[in-house]
Amino acid sequence: MTVCENREKNLAECTCTYSCDKRGICCECVAQHRAMGELPGCFFPPEAEKTYDRTIRKFVEVMQGRV
Ligand code: SF4
Repeated sequence: MTVCENREKNLAECTCTYSCDKRGICCECVAQHRAMGELPGCFFPPEAEKTYDRTIRKFVEVMQGRV
């Protein structure tokens, strides 16, 4: 498992509710989702995050009218 000196601090801020070994290891989380054309769960509002749909299409859909 990756050792990250910031993991505990990152976990305190992480809003992802999916059970995942990358939680708190933001560099791996971002890289994984970027490779799939997605965004990390923390970019989504809570109700959308819970769907586990991390696609950019979903992000644009839920952010319409919020920004
Ligand atoms: S956003 Fe994705 S990679 Fe990151 S902790 Fe959640 S499920 Fe894991």
